[in-house]
Amino acid sequence: MINFSVPEKITNELQMAKMVAEQVMRAKSRYYDEHEHERPWEYINIMWPVLREQNRRQMEKSTNGKGPKREGPGTAILRLVMLVETLSWGDAGQYLCTPDPALGGAAIQAVGTTEQKVRFLSRFTEGDPKWGAMAMTEPGAGSDTSAIRMTAELDVQTNEWILNGEKIFCTNGSLALDESDGLVVIWATVDSSAGRAGMKPFVVEAGTPGVTISKKEEKLGIRASDTASIVFEDARIPFDNILGSPEVQRLDQATTKGFKGAMKTFDTSRPVVAASAMGVARAALEFTKGKLAEEGITVDYTKPQHALTAVERDILEMEARHKAGWLLTLRAASMTDHGRANRLEASMSKAYTGVAATWITQKAVELLGPIGYTQDVLVEKWMRDAKINDIFEGTQQINLLIVARSILGYTRRELK
Ligand SMILES: Cc1cc2nc3c(=O)[nH]c(=O)nc-3n(C[C@H](O)[C@H](O)[C@H](O)COP(=O)(O)OP(=O)(O)OC[C@H]3O[C@@H](n4cnc5c(N)ncnc54)[C@H](O)[C@@H]3O)c2cc1C
Repeated sequence: MINFSVPEKITNELQMAKMVAEQVMRAKSRYYDEHEHERPWEYINIMWPVLREQNRRQMEKSTNGKGPKREGPGTAILRLVMLVETLSWGDAGQYLCTPDPALGGAAIQAVGTTEQKVRFLSRFTEGDPKWGAMAMTEPGAGSDTSAIRMTAELDVQTNEWILNGEKIFCTNGSLALDESDGLVVIWATVDSSAGRAGMKPFVVEAGTPGVTISKKEEKLGIRASDTASIVFEDARIPFDNILGSPEVQRLDQATTKGFKGAMKTFDTSRPVVAASAMGVARAALEFTKGKLAEEGITVDYTKPQHALTAVERDILEMEARHKAGWLLTLRAASMTDHGRANRLEASMSKAYTGVAATWITQKAVELLGPIGYTQDVLVEKWMRDAKINDIFEGTQQINLLIVARSILGYTRRELK
């Protein structure tokens, strides 16, 4: 049975997050939407000391087993999705600028050795704000990761990997490599004839010679978020920056721990993206209901279906899609906390909420009439912000493929 009540220790944190969302993020939403390459320092400076301390505690726990022993299922991912939903209700673009190791850190935590965790993640426990990121996408490789062309060649003389290629659309790529002492986990092939089996994750640290930020995107939505292209020209990194084994083996063999482990991080990150989508959707839904209420239009939940007005029916449909998306998100998150495999549920939550948030925010613009289309209010921005959830972290179509494969029992080769 799923318990839907919010644990008390999360309630306090959620209240803090709500204050930040309301008073810090919302206050600057329009500004950072209009100033795409400026950084939301008001938000970053509030979050960093809190996250730095959390990172320090997590580091102690994962490297020397210190910290309280937990009994029964945890609440870490449930807590995360609830916080992300609240912060994204504030502003999804600013939330993406949260200074933390992000997906890069998750990959290091999932498959890194203790030495690697200490070497790479210590920086997130001290000093100024820092960012981590994950770069897979290339000009010729998005959904189809087997098309990755970036190479990592081992120089046996110096025991270094030499990286060549280009990564595009990397969230926080510039913040990680150019604007802080952060890091990016990149995917490159050590053997281009081996397909996916040749692909390995590597950690690239800020300050590595041969690594250049070549472009900062100007986007439709989440404009406060940094999205960068990164060029690697004979960039040399130590041999020990590879995550997992350098051996090229078939994917079903045990030594592909690096690939599988890093891919597994998506089972956690997809519900997190879903939560962000639901935060944006809730912002639009609440605002629309509030504005309609000012005009004396409220939903009478006791009315039978045939007696509803068109507006009431639309509001009910928005609420239903929002609730369904949020419940799918909570289910996927809670399964991780219970140690249960959730690839299907993670993709379900991601595929559904991306479409739901896009639809709900468009409906909000529609219901509010001309005012919803103007920059006097944030609804048109939320509509633009919502769409990304249908694209990154696996597009809607790719997540639907994962759902279909899982339910129908097809392999990746049989259903593509
Ligand atoms: C703002 C932003 C931030 C991003 N951040 C990151 C990041 O941090 N790290 C990173 O690595 N990437 C990032 N990305 C890239 C993102 O993950 C890719 O854009 C996404 O995976 C899709 O890849 P693509 O753009 O090459 O599109 P394509 O794969 O070319 O897809 C184009 C269209 O075809 C559809 N399609 C493709 N294959 C199939 C199929 N088999 N069946 C049905 N439909 C299919 C897709 O769903 C999509 O609608 C980001 C992108 C954006 C826009």
